[in-house]
Amino acid sequence: MQEGEKVSIEKGFDGLRPQTRALRAGHDPASHHGFVNPAVVHASTVLFPNTDTMRKRAQLYTYGLRGTPTTEALERALDELEGSAGTILVPSGLAAVSVPLLAFLSSGDHLLVVDSVYGPTRLFCDTMLKRMGVEVEYFDPALGAGIAARMKANTRALFLEAPGSNTFEMIDVRAMSDAAHAAGALVMMDNTWATPLFFRPLEHGVDLSIHALTKYPGGHSDVMLGSVSATRETYQRLRAAQMQLGLNVGGDDAYLVFRGLKTMAVRLAHHQAAALEIARWMEARPEVSRVLHPALPSFPGHDLWKRQFSGASGLFSVVMAGGGTREASAFLDALQIFGLGYSWGGFESLALQPDLSDRTVALAPEEGPVLRFQIGLEDVEDLKDDLLRGFEALAAPASARDMA
Ligand SMILES: *Cc1c(COP(=O)(O)O)cnc(C)c1O
Repeated sequence: MQEGEKVSIEKGFDGLRPQTRALRAGHDPASHHGFVNPAVVHASTVLFPNTDTMRKRAQLYTYGLRGTPTTEALERALDELEGSAGTILVPSGLAAVSVPLLAFLSSGDHLLVVDSVYGPTRLFCDTMLKRMGVEVEYFDPALGAGIAARMKANTRALFLEAPGSNTFEMIDVRAMSDAAHAAGALVMMDNTWATPLFFRPLEHGVDLSIHALTKYPGGHSDVMLGSVSATRETYQRLRAAQMQLGLNVGGDDAYLVFRGLKTMAVRLAHHQAAALEIARWMEARPEVSRVLHPALPSFPGHDLWKRQFSGASGLFSVVMAGGGTREASAFLDALQIFGLGYSWGGFESLALQPDLSDRTVALAPEEGPVLRFQIGLEDVEDLKDDLLRGFEALAAPASARDMA
């Protein structure tokens, strides 16, 4: 809603926890003939009863771009999960990264970005933001409160992602947020991996929490969407930028994610347990040097994860003990259940060798190739059998592989 004031249509919310609130938020069945779910509104034009109302825009909905009951239902549910004052929706997770950066940065500003950031986020910073005259600097995720020394008079924002993309470096979010605020900078955080069920950035000092709703919230690999959830202080400017850029999302896509949110907690419980089981199993394999999973006690960022997060999702990586791209390909090409594909957070297991060549300070592991796994909702034993095919392909002599 353009004025930023949410209409409280939910009844009996007092004392409920976020998950329960999220299941009820955004839609009052009594106002829709009792139907449990909201209507999917397809809209551009909204009619006004008279010119006075039109001139004053004195009604709840004014134009399709400005939101519909369907997009608002999803925004409200995300607000409950994130504990935010307002949420905007955009057509992809990447747009949820670019829109807040465009909303708050100007020519001459300095932006600090964690080096283990999602690759396309880096590309946006290195192309469009640089062209706009924004000075972009990458920092080591291990810097912690040391980030204070990187703050300059023109530092406008700190961009975090935790854990880091593909290599899962953890960050002390509170320490970094406090340092940024002390220097007058805003804090944005890509919270896609944890989902708001396992981490609520705004409670750790972050101003803007970013999600690729394409991942776990959608959950079925059939929709692309993004969201940015904001504090009371940042929401108006974020919403204004969304409207200035002419971005919003269609009712069908918003509804798919609204629907996905209803089962996200049970799906994540399975993703979490299955991924941990497979991560531990991989850790015991001689072909594996290290498993990069924040919930494993062996992981260097484990304590930071445990202190701040309440769970782990289903995405992690392993560092192979030796070999290179050829071995990584042999492993991946032998898999029959794990699909080779981008993105994650859906019901299906996926594997790939991520490109880590863009890192500048948080460098890629060197013992062997890094393989990233999204553990889906299949039977865990079937997934282990599939991974055994990968390990067997590593053991096969190269000549036999070439002939196969
Ligand atoms: C996938 C992803 C995005 C981008 O989401 P899309 O919907 O694919 O554009 C952004 N951030 C992170 C951490 C992601 O994993």
